[in-house]
Amino acid sequence: MKMKEKFAEINKVQKALLATNFYNFETLKGVLLAAQQEQSDIILQLTQKSIDYMGLENALALAKAGLKTYGVTGWVHLDHGGSIELVEACLKAGFDSVMYDGSELPLAQNIENTKKVVQLAANYGANVEAELGYIAKLEQSHDKVAFTRPQDAQLFVEETGVDTLAVAIGTAHGFYKETPKLDFERLKAIKEVAQIPLVLHGGSGVPVPDVQRAISLGVCKVNVATEIKNIFMKTLKTLLTETDEIDLRQVFPPATASITKLIQGKLKMVNDVYQPTV
Ligand SMILES: [Zn+2]
Repeated sequence: MKMKEKFAEINKVQKALLATNFYNFETLKGVLLAAQQEQSDIILQLTQKSIDYMGLENALALAKAGLKTYGVTGWVHLDHGGSIELVEACLKAGFDSVMYDGSELPLAQNIENTKKVVQLAANYGANVEAELGYIAKLEQSHDKVAFTRPQDAQLFVEETGVDTLAVAIGTAHGFYKETPKLDFERLKAIKEVAQIPLVLHGGSGVPVPDVQRAISLGVCKVNVATEIKNIFMKTLKTLLTETDEIDLRQVFPPATASITKLIQGKLKMVNDVYQPTV
């Protein structure tokens, strides 16, 4: 099934897909084993940095082969595509979905560029995600806030014809100093006017019931990246202080297993139905 069709399907029933970033074979394997064990669909994401690191063809081939090997239904998605050129290269290579991130541009410019990406992706039947509002990036301050305005979202979706929209409702990329407070009223208002599947970036550290509530209000894609890198490197670091083993095939598996455990929990989170506490 095409990702566009999958989103259309889950958009009607308040369900969401987990989207996980991967950085090398070990992190990919960790994520795929989790999806296999949970018998869950998954989105595999690559950022520009990961593409530069692994090479576009290598990274895509690794992801596609991995899905097949582990018997997992999944899609490959470009995360935070910063230029139309990168988006085009990914579409040509065979990505199922691309994100064009013009969130830091003025609204009119973001609309214009996203429109171009939507037209381009139509040739490939690929899904397009865009971002509206300001979701602080890893190196950016969490203090600056620009939540997505519902009226902008309506205009943006109408003008661009984008398939999915990342919204700023109180999350940020990376870890939080304090538990983030999501603006559910805003989310509801955006969904009402935009109608399309919404995307939650910066999901690391948002309490589980809040993520599930967001899903019940129209979020159809939940991104996890920072926690994957973090648990892999932390586990590896501990292992390396305890052993002089030079066979990396002995050293990596526990770090890979730590990702599997993390992602199994995340898959349960998105696949479970939200139970409001009374
Ligand atoms: Zn993001």
